[in-house]
Amino acid sequence: MPKNVDQESIVLCRSCDLAVQRRALPSNVRALCPRCHTALYDVPYCSINGMLALCITALLFFIPANFLPVLEIHFLGSIRATTVYETAIAVWAQGYWIVAVAVIASAVIAPGLLILSILLQIIIVKNKLHSYFWQRTYRRLLKNQALLTQLSMLEIYVISFLVAAFNLSDFADIYLGMGTFCFGMLFLVILFLQREYNLEHMWKLTHDE
Ligand SMILES: [Zn+2]
Repeated sequence: MPKNVDQESIVLCRSCDLAVQRRALPSNVRALCPRCHTALYDVPYCSINGMLALCITALLFFIPANFLPVLEIHFLGSIRATTVYETAIAVWAQGYWIVAVAVIASAVIAPGLLILSILLQIIIVKNKLHSYFWQRTYRRLLKNQALLTQLSMLEIYVISFLVAAFNLSDFADIYLGMGTFCFGMLFLVILFLQREYNLEHMWKLTHDE
């Protein structure tokens, strides 16, 4: 192996252990092992413009998801609609303040920060902001990325209010509100965003002074 070959650019084939030099690929093309044709890697990862579109879409769903009613309960002629905040406040009032804090942190704050963090990273990369201040901000965002990803647990929230809706549906009419739809869409968009996002690749886009 020549000495100037970057260690990171070598991929080992999972099936036959052949060392293959990683090369830039056009999008939607998959690299195959030349010896046994096992798929090695594909590179639609981290398309900056794709992630920008996903971030903007996520922000568009984020606001209605949090401010529109997620559940509408029709019970004996009375109608109650609740938003995420009202749910958290009601849970807090019943004494389960840890649950309320967990709901707000994992369903509202963490996903919000996650979207804003990725958006800011994209803006820094796209506008080639190479000054010390922006590069320092960029590194800080990357260091906190894993924590934000772990804290965002929208899926648990989506599942829990669907379970609540089905349980209540025995004795009340339950309608899923526009907020539920936006929450579901937000969940899907963030899922795609996280699939597209590649932390290792984002680190390679840092610039040293
Ligand atoms: Zn192979």
